[in-house]
Amino acid sequence: MASVKSPGLILKKIPFSDSSLILKVFTRESGLITLIAKGAKRPKSRFSGLLDFFTLDQFVYPEKSKSEIHTLMEAGLIRDFPRLKSDPARQSLGHVFMELYLKYVAEPAQSHPHYEMLLERLEQIDEADDPAFDPVLHLCDFLLGLCAVSGFSPQFSECVQCGRPATGFRVRMDPDLGGPVCAACAGAGAGGIAFPGRLLRWLGRLQEMGIRAGRLPRDEESQAEAFLLSFLGKHAGGARPMKTLDFYHEMLETF
Ligand SMILES: [Zn+2]
Repeated sequence: MASVKSPGLILKKIPFSDSSLILKVFTRESGLITLIAKGAKRPKSRFSGLLDFFTLDQFVYPEKSKSEIHTLMEAGLIRDFPRLKSDPARQSLGHVFMELYLKYVAEPAQSHPHYEMLLERLEQIDEADDPAFDPVLHLCDFLLGLCAVSGFSPQFSECVQCGRPATGFRVRMDPDLGGPVCAACAGAGAGGIAFPGRLLRWLGRLQEMGIRAGRLPRDEESQAEAFLLSFLGKHAGGARPMKTLDFYHEMLETF
């Protein structure tokens, strides 16, 4: 039987029967797939010590399966992310990244850019220095990256309605249209989220250069996070409840 060998990242593990595990894995070659690791929970399983979260593994599975669930034939460790595994703050953020893929990327989503982005962003939070580690910065960067690889990006430089440069303070971000609406177009009592100009410029830099854009005060970054989540929801078929966000927001209180 022809098989596929592909690196991949485990996004979710579901216990199945007494001894097996069902895995949602984002693979480089096949996108998001479901694998069953038979006997993986037995102590002497050939998968023992493998199949952890926050590791990059090599997966071997049949090229074609009768069902949607492919049988995992072999697995091997390529590398792990030690700080992601041991630091609860980084871990809570990593789980948000993984759930965003599960909720907003439609299976099978065979896409190298999606795979590369997830891998690169997990590497980034694994490698980030402690004093400078800013989870909200990383999450905003991740959300912008996910929008970009999915083909819908917000913009932060001009009014989405009249095209005037959006540099003033009285701009409103419109998650439907994906950009700022100037004070004149917004009119009185218009909806959307009011954004200070500084936050708009920061989002523009973040989109251009990633986390090197630097930090803003936490409350402003959180405003950007809420906008980007709402933008993603609107453009990816509706907002989905996210379990991991609650824990991540609790963790934020501690760092
Ligand atoms: Zn306008």
